[in-house]
Amino acid sequence: MTPPDTVLPVETQALRDLIIRKLTYTLGKPVTAAQDRDWFVATALAVRDRITERFLKQMEMNRGKAKKHVYYLSLEFLIGRLLRENANNLGLVEEMREALADLGVTTDQARQAEPDAALGNGGLGRLAACFLESMSSLAIPAFGYGIRYDHGLFRQILREGWQQEFPEDWLNFGNPWEFARPEFRYRVGFGGEVSGDDDSDKATWTPGEWVDAVAYDVPVVGWRGEHVNLLRLWHAQAPDPLRLDAFNSGDHHGALAEQVRAESISKVLYPADDSPAGQELRLRQEYFFTAAALADVLRRQVRQAGSVETLADHAAIQLNDTHPAIAVAELMRLLVDEYGLAWAKAWEVTRGTISYTNHTLLPEALESWPVHLMERMLPRHMQIIYRINAEHLDGVRAKFPGDDRLLSSVSLIGEDHGRRVRMGHLAFVGSHHVNGVSALHTGLMKQTVFSDFHRLFPHRIVNKTNGIAFRRWLFQCNPGLTSLLVDALGPRVLDDASALTELRGMADDAIFQGRYAAVKRANKEALAVMIQERTGVRVDPAALFDVQIKRIHEYKRQLLNVLQTVALYESMRAHPMRDWTPVVKIFAGKAAPGYHRAKQIIKLAWDVARVVNRDPAVRGLLKVAFIPNYNVSAAEVIVPAADLSEQISTAGMEASGTGNMKLALNGALTIGTLDGATVEMAEHIGHEHLFLFGLSAAEVADRKAEGWKGSRAIAASDTLGGVLDAIEGGVFSPDDRTRYRDLVASLRGDDWFMVTADFDSYLDAQKDAMTLYRDTTEWRRKAVLNTAGMGWFSSDRSISEYAKEIWNVPVSR
Ligand SMILES: *Cc1c(COP(=O)(O)O)cnc(C)c1O
Repeated sequence: MTPPDTVLPVETQALRDLIIRKLTYTLGKPVTAAQDRDWFVATALAVRDRITERFLKQMEMNRGKAKKHVYYLSLEFLIGRLLRENANNLGLVEEMREALADLGVTTDQARQAEPDAALGNGGLGRLAACFLESMSSLAIPAFGYGIRYDHGLFRQILREGWQQEFPEDWLNFGNPWEFARPEFRYRVGFGGEVSGDDDSDKATWTPGEWVDAVAYDVPVVGWRGEHVNLLRLWHAQAPDPLRLDAFNSGDHHGALAEQVRAESISKVLYPADDSPAGQELRLRQEYFFTAAALADVLRRQVRQAGSVETLADHAAIQLNDTHPAIAVAELMRLLVDEYGLAWAKAWEVTRGTISYTNHTLLPEALESWPVHLMERMLPRHMQIIYRINAEHLDGVRAKFPGDDRLLSSVSLIGEDHGRRVRMGHLAFVGSHHVNGVSALHTGLMKQTVFSDFHRLFPHRIVNKTNGIAFRRWLFQCNPGLTSLLVDALGPRVLDDASALTELRGMADDAIFQGRYAAVKRANKEALAVMIQERTGVRVDPAALFDVQIKRIHEYKRQLLNVLQTVALYESMRAHPMRDWTPVVKIFAGKAAPGYHRAKQIIKLAWDVARVVNRDPAVRGLLKVAFIPNYNVSAAEVIVPAADLSEQISTAGMEASGTGNMKLALNGALTIGTLDGATVEMAEHIGHEHLFLFGLSAAEVADRKAEGWKGSRAIAASDTLGGVLDAIEGGVFSPDDRTRYRDLVASLRGDDWFMVTADFDSYLDAQKDAMTLYRDTTEWRRKAVLNTAGMGWFSSDRSISEYAKEIWNVPVSR
């Protein structure tokens, strides 16, 4: 506590007083009893006040102005913690530190007490969070729409290396960032019946079940606090809290059944990544949040413009993947059935308003729903989809008469596995623009999954390469590097990421290199502490930190990395006295709960770690650590400390990647395939400053067409056979020697992800990296050049492109 005569700067004093007021009157606690969590909540509420003041002022200034809004619909927002991001964007970090210090608390104590909001699985959800931040930073009026899941992505625990999932409880102590908005409540229907006469476009849908969507708003403040947007998350509730008659007659469970069924919609995030969750509940989630969002959009439209006919002038609706694709049919339903527009006019408005981002070409991940399920759950929407399809196919017939193959290829209804609605096709025909998320991915969209659509609509597909929010992935997670950049380039670099290119002139400067390396070293020491705490493995911060952090998926090829680790281990054992580069292999990531092979790969990494870390023959020169429970907060510690960034997906399978961008920006050199946005990173940084290896996307396609067999690559390699024999024979699983038989067998067979095909060239690239790491000057030079080349990958650049080329909204800054 401050003795009365201590003088704090006015701003700091005000913030300190505000924090105490929050603690006293909102939490009802005396300063003497406050725990770290209380300090976090009180501080967050104080910071939220500052955001709210700006928000209200902005509303006042914009009153009566009907500015075009962007509506970003996403089933996932992988937000992470907000305290430091919000304080940083408001320019309050110093005041917050001083105010808390005066109260005897460190910023870190308060920060660590914040739960990590994991309303997403991985890259797609994190992209949505970065994009919202950039829209606020660029002062684009926008709303994010999603679901307020009671439980975000599961907590991962490794028991003897096997992943176990535990529920996550981020809301246990409330969420100080949000405003509950019970006055914004929309009734969403399911099931029931449709009536109407055949001569009219209009029909009447009488749902058999209702669920209320209740709004919770999280303000998103942009850089320098100049603009605030809202992330509006929907909570599901039954219209009646319970059936009192049933309750009073003793049926306590039955009385709550409707409530339980309704609330299950916003209960948990589906932990599926890159695969469709073929569950009725998933479709209910998708329709629920989309319907609530569109009702909200049209309410605002009518209030501001008086009519829905001009919606496209006032609203740009972006669909983040196909999860909200039902928006196409729902907007048609609202315009035709509820607002009385003629079908043709409604279609013009819908297509003028909606655009869609595709995130994957993996066939197993393309969403489709059984027609019978849609007919039962959304009968009116199914009618609308049939009519959209009929008119769409008429248009195709007119352009390419007699081409039945084309008709079935572009139909909204697929016949392959029973009749199913193809959500990607629905999104495509209902959008004015469809975008891929890297140049390579967009090109492949045109050549593969959407090639027929591209022939029909040659201007619809455009590219918008992903980006990351520099405020979080540089300023916030790496304050050391940020202040070095400000020293070197001036404060301008904080507002204009393209200023980073000027760093190129300093890449050879020994003094600058030294300072850059000192920052990296400090970050590595912090990561070493985290590794020791979470895994018990002791690592040397001087070693090469080789990092692969992302969802565990066969196409991302953590397995390739583990195989190289085994190869390195065997070489070290065979030549113990050679002058080895010390290496720490760092893995983190979650597997989808039902994805057995991914869990097996985690177990293998863990088994290899156990053997390697204990073997005195390697003399500590190789360490392996699997850090459990990867999330945004963990990434914020790992990313700034990485030396080598593993981006080793099978070429053609990673749509963009954003982890690749975070790591390179923070000075890790990339070892990678020419896949996703890594291709463009190499162009911006210079190919010679990455360790590129492996087959290209075109070569992968050729090999597959020829009928790839792993056994041939294994026979041709000097090393791979021995590595696989060791794993297959139980060297790393003495407790269960058959554990990895099927895994190795799949590599000898089809090897769908081409691990064996790329193994030798990956091994060579790894050797190059280990050799270069010993040349300190050259390694540092390249690290600096990586940071220097990454300015273009700011999500501000991505969002500016969306604003100009898709949304048609002005951008300030
Ligand atoms: C950035 C990020 C991702 C995406 O990583 P990729 O390497 O692009 O797959 C996933 N999870 C978290 C927590 C992230 O921060």
